[in-house]
Amino acid sequence: MTARDPRRSLPQVDALVREVAPDGLPHAVVVDAVRTVVAAARKRARRSHAVPSHTEMLAMANDELARRRRALLRPVINATGVIIHTNLGRAPLSERAIQAVADVARGYSNLEWDAEHGRRGDRFAHVEPLLAMLCGAEAALVVNNNAAAVLLVCAALGAGKEVIVSRGELIEIGGEFRIPDVLAQSGATLREVGTTNRTRAADYEKAVGNETAFLLKVHPSNYRVVGFTTAASTEDLARIAHARKVPLVFDVGSGLVTRELADEPLVQRAVDDGADLVCFSGDKLFGGPQAGVVAGKADLIAPLRKHPLLRALRPDKMQLAALGATVVEHLERAEEVPVWRMIAASPDDIAKRAKRLVRELAGAGYEAEAVPGESVTGGGSLPGEGIPTTLVRVRHAALKPKAIAAGLRAAEVPVAVRVDDGAVIVDLRTVFTHQEKDVHQAFRSLT
Ligand SMILES: *Cc1c(COP(=O)(O)O)cnc(C)c1O
Repeated sequence: MTARDPRRSLPQVDALVREVAPDGLPHAVVVDAVRTVVAAARKRARRSHAVPSHTEMLAMANDELARRRRALLRPVINATGVIIHTNLGRAPLSERAIQAVADVARGYSNLEWDAEHGRRGDRFAHVEPLLAMLCGAEAALVVNNNAAAVLLVCAALGAGKEVIVSRGELIEIGGEFRIPDVLAQSGATLREVGTTNRTRAADYEKAVGNETAFLLKVHPSNYRVVGFTTAASTEDLARIAHARKVPLVFDVGSGLVTRELADEPLVQRAVDDGADLVCFSGDKLFGGPQAGVVAGKADLIAPLRKHPLLRALRPDKMQLAALGATVVEHLERAEEVPVWRMIAASPDDIAKRAKRLVRELAGAGYEAEAVPGESVTGGGSLPGEGIPTTLVRVRHAALKPKAIAAGLRAAEVPVAVRVDDGAVIVDLRTVFTHQEKDVHQAFRSLT
């Protein structure tokens, strides 16, 4: 560096660190961000001999800090109308579940302590009896997610043997969960039967043999094979499995327990129809925390408990607390599970809220109108079936829909919307009432 080197006039890291807006970020992160920005400016100056002004450097440093702050895990507003949105954290928890998490998180708990006898207890003992009762099953086990539940079942009951699955059910569920891969990881061999669109009971019957560990039925959550199709019923599969003294395992996916919803399988019905083990997610239609549940016969759950994988897949106290509270809500048929409140929201109420938003946005210079449309349950449930709703279509004379959506994502509390057909689409079904003012504010800040 010569005496006249322009890089000399770049601000010092220390000086910038004192001037930026840290906005809650730890000092070490602020220093690192400022260093990154100064180093990049130095590199550019070496090539172009153009040195940013102090004000420009400060702005760049603040941008970098804002970028790092935005990358942290934080709440967003879901205005997409997709109720179980995997990218947005799936099911919001009920107040009861949140309270249960806070209670065990704040201090110690009887997680693995038998308070009555003062000895070591079982972390599954608190939620299991209620969960089994809810599912109409003898026993139940909780793991980290449903992928883990299926993996554990295949490893504990299927390793070294064959698991029979229909070719129509060799599904991939968003994010690398592929039934054939899970089976391969578990040490079980996949025995495919039938074709993509048609698998008859007789196909399973022919495939069952001495090598069979169990029959696996998988709910094809996120797609439907339509047209010329056949699938064997749970009852048929249970009859075939039980005649050959092997179990039937049913991965129902979504964990519907309290009411009917189109052709989503009900957990209790799967058990009644003869599935020996039923697996489902805690955070889809069940409306609880991320978790995987295996419910069914006690003598089949027992080897799962003893399997070494369980130690790696077990849920923590916060998951168990939230799941336990959600189970209680379902047993009480309380309408407090947010996913179900959203599914059951009154169409009039949504229309009223939509009209309020239209008025608000018109006042802020947008062209907005309330139009009929559809919300979706999401999370791989009910593909192609919407819930009638009132949408708000938003346009602006000077802002393209994509620019509006980007602006909403950059808001203090980011707002996720759909962009469709030349407009921003807001569905208030998935927006909590207390968030409406933040939605208004996010739109207003763009004009
Ligand atoms: C969603 C789903 C899974 C995966 O569940 P996670 O809880 O996300 O691990 C597995 N099987 C089916 C049928 C599903 O719908």
